[in-house]
Amino acid sequence: MPFLERHMREANDVKSLLRDIRRAMDYAVPEAQRAGADDLVDQYRDDRLALMLLREFYSFLPEAAEDWAREILRIDRRQGIFLLALASGSGRYVYLVSDEGVEFHGDVKDGCLTDELLDFFGYESVDDFVRKATGELPNYEALNQDEELCPVCHAASGEYHELGCVVEICPWCGGQLVHCSCRHDQLGVDSIETEAQLLEFEAILEERGRIPYSPEQRPSFLQHESEEE
Ligand SMILES: [Zn+2]
Ligand SMILES: [Zn+2]
Repeated sequence: MPFLERHMREANDVKSLLRDIRRAMDYAVPEAQRAGADDLVDQYRDDRLALMLLREFYSFLPEAAEDWAREILRIDRRQGIFLLALASGSGRYVYLVSDEGVEFHGDVKDGCLTDELLDFFGYESVDDFVRKATGELPNYEALNQDEELCPVCHAASGEYHELGCVVEICPWCGGQLVHCSCRHDQLGVDSIETEAQLLEFEAILEERGRIPYSPEQRPSFLQHESEEE
């Protein structure tokens, strides 16, 4: 493995994250709040995503003044990407967090999401987002990556797959939507060749009712089932 890649990987393991966080906390956290701040880090000590977020927060404090993380709240989640709010001594800040990394998006009150992100998480408007993000929110909890996410497109249990995901089940025949011939039958064509046909098929599919991801669609789950028989 090339040096840089190895270095990056090591820097994101739980042990390195905890070390980086504690080092930054020595400079960032007011003495009187240290115990509370330590408690939160401890609560998430096995959760890589939460630790990546805490490292980002403590390394680049939003207000560039002493501060501490009180709570991590979940605003939204889609396909393994979390929209989280970090409640600190000074305010509530929005972060986009996934395996790929952490992105700071400013103070919740400022409605700091791009149009692309508003769309992705299904908000009608900035106000719609601000209302949710400033309201009462549940504490962030890690997903059980092995069970709850589609192994291919990372849709969570109950969410729709990305269109084209091989795990999605066909609502007409119960087979795999990318392999059966229902899409061609529905459109009355031999193959889907244009963007317009794809959009038309998506509309017909949504009208019929798409089948969201659930853990029993996982190939490994199906194997276990048949082994037991
Ligand atoms: Zn999927
Ligand atoms: Zn089918």
